[in-house]
Amino acid sequence: MTGWLDPLRTVLAEREEPVRFFFRDDDAGWHDEALEELLDVFELHEVPVDVAAIPVAMTARTATLIAARQSSGRNDITVHQHGFAHVNHEPEGRKCEFGASRSPEQQRDDIARGRDELSALLGDLPAVFTPPWNRCAPWTAQVLHDLGFAVLSRDLSAGRAEVPGLVELPITVDWFAKRKRIPVDRAGRGQLLADSAAQGTVGVMLHHAVISTEDRADVGALLALVAGDPAASADHLDRLALSTTF
Ligand SMILES: [Zn+2]
Repeated sequence: MTGWLDPLRTVLAEREEPVRFFFRDDDAGWHDEALEELLDVFELHEVPVDVAAIPVAMTARTATLIAARQSSGRNDITVHQHGFAHVNHEPEGRKCEFGASRSPEQQRDDIARGRDELSALLGDLPAVFTPPWNRCAPWTAQVLHDLGFAVLSRDLSAGRAEVPGLVELPITVDWFAKRKRIPVDRAGRGQLLADSAAQGTVGVMLHHAVISTEDRADVGALLALVAGDPAASADHLDRLALSTTF
């Protein structure tokens, strides 16, 4: 038993409704070896994972390793679009690729080009978009809807865009969350998971490029709990988003 997960165990034991989880790993295209190491953990526990891929950074090598894992059944992976080039366009303030400095037309061009580049490597993808740094301009949601996207996933703190036809399913637990600029420790992460589970849906965001060996072991412990506890279930982001009204 791992103590840091006890608050989550308690919530799972006490809630009458099941708790639904999804796991988003960001920045595919960077650090293939670290991506594979994290995918190995998901393979071991047979838990679905949503990989957020950066169109400009994706290579044939990354696409091949993902496709091989999908076709062999090693992993239940769904890939979706994560921005375009993962660059910051804001001259000041918080980093953002699709922020106020980019007009709707510029954003539309970047998102459409990114979708084309990813599709060329990976085929048709679910109509899901996650913006780098988990935030975007007030008009980005409408741009996405006009392009045919059905799901937007940001951080819970980003609020809701309220664009009819575009479902939002936010991340609720950032594995690398900070509180007053200090990284949340293991116990704090366990509490975040428990607090989120109490609301019914837990969206966990991971970054394979910066995850430590110890973190990977902790992710494994969480996945084992989710896979083994009948009060918990895991599915892909788009399936959860489109199966329920939030
Ligand atoms: Zn990112």
